[in-house]
Amino acid sequence: MISFSLNDEHEALRQTVQDFARDVVAPVIGDFYERGEFPYEIIAKMGKLGLFGLPFPEDVGGMGGDFFAFCLALHELARVDSSVAITLEAGVALGAMPIYLFGTDAQRERWLPALCAGDRLAAFGLTEPGGGSDIPGGMRTTAQLDGDWWVINGSKAFITNSGTAITSAITVLAITGRSDGRPQISSIIVPAGTKGFTVGPEYSKVGWCASDTRELAFSDCRVPAQNLLGEQGRGYAQFLQILDEGRIAIAALSAGLAQGCVDECLRYVGQRSAFGHELRHYQSIQFKLADMEARAATARLAWYDAAARLVAGEPIKKAAAIAKLTASNAAMDNARDATQIFGGYGFMNEFPVARFYRDAKVLEIGEGTSEVQRMIIARELGMNADF
Ligand SMILES: Cc1cc2nc3c(=O)[nH]c(=O)nc-3n(C[C@H](O)[C@H](O)[C@H](O)COP(=O)(O)OP(=O)(O)OC[C@H]3O[C@@H](n4cnc5c(N)ncnc54)[C@H](O)[C@@H]3O)c2cc1C
Repeated sequence: MISFSLNDEHEALRQTVQDFARDVVAPVIGDFYERGEFPYEIIAKMGKLGLFGLPFPEDVGGMGGDFFAFCLALHELARVDSSVAITLEAGVALGAMPIYLFGTDAQRERWLPALCAGDRLAAFGLTEPGGGSDIPGGMRTTAQLDGDWWVINGSKAFITNSGTAITSAITVLAITGRSDGRPQISSIIVPAGTKGFTVGPEYSKVGWCASDTRELAFSDCRVPAQNLLGEQGRGYAQFLQILDEGRIAIAALSAGLAQGCVDECLRYVGQRSAFGHELRHYQSIQFKLADMEARAATARLAWYDAAARLVAGEPIKKAAAIAKLTASNAAMDNARDATQIFGGYGFMNEFPVARFYRDAKVLEIGEGTSEVQRMIIARELGMNADF
């Protein structure tokens, strides 16, 4: 029989993160957001709670949990705030995970303990200024072997966690040759502060304003040959796997935001009155909230399904794309409806729903746009765009 009930361990984690988000994140995150400031204190506390080590085994410094537990933490954080949730998502699913999955013992020993503890963050540099969806076709960054060194040239755009004071390394995807006329792509770990590697200023963003996103430039940047992650030429397969898993995490974050909209509105409609009655008595408000709850619940089931398949070792490509598409739609729709229910106050930054509204849009863009998710699902249905 299928059961989507949480086991005791997952339920305890869910409760712990829910309490943390309410007591530690909610009271202060609005100020960080307005100042566009990275919340180091909160991230350190998330580290102490073990959130950055959740899906990794204890022998590499992790908590011995699973990917489902990690997604559960993202869901509960995003019910309150997406900036800290995306910092965790990118730090784990894009930063530490490639090193765990594809790294040598020496690379794991060097990087993972501090990443699992949340003392350091790593980033994943795939997207380039000239193209994100069209990778590898649009990739221009190159890495050439020069004796015992990779020499990297090029640039990356929109890279999360790449410029914080605690960022230790970026996994950079680069063209390392050609085979059968196609670019051969490899992953290379570039330590923060390497000569020839420049981190740009923080972007001015519509949302996720308390998270770190930057453009990166590489100019004859030399890193040791042993910083190659996995086999040379396996970068394409590696990032497809990383993005499939990452999409489940983004779906969990999106479902959390969708649920957070319901949470905020349920409180508000019992406090605000119009025409002599609390808003909760009007059927149009009730129907809006019913639709919002239905979307949040559907989004949650979609990521539960995809994450459960991942943990069971089953194929996830279609389930992950469906979860990401469904949940990011739910987040966007719920954020729009929540803002409407709050009326003018929904347009004021001091209210969480305004933050949700600003944070929701990027969920339809990052780690594969909604169009890319539809392309994946269509391909999984046996339809190819062969021009
Ligand atoms: C805040 C933020 C954080 C990010 N963090 C990271 C990170 O940590 N690491 C990283 O590598 N990247 C990161 N990204 C990049 C993100 O993954 C890309 O923005 C995304 O993949 C889309 O790529 P693009 O912006 O180049 O858009 P484009 O690929 O230029 O797409 C533009 C539009 O065209 C559509 N489109 C493209 N191709 C097709 C097609 N064949 N058919 C139909 N429509 C199509 C797209 O869906 C989109 O609507 C981040 C982005 C943001 C905004």
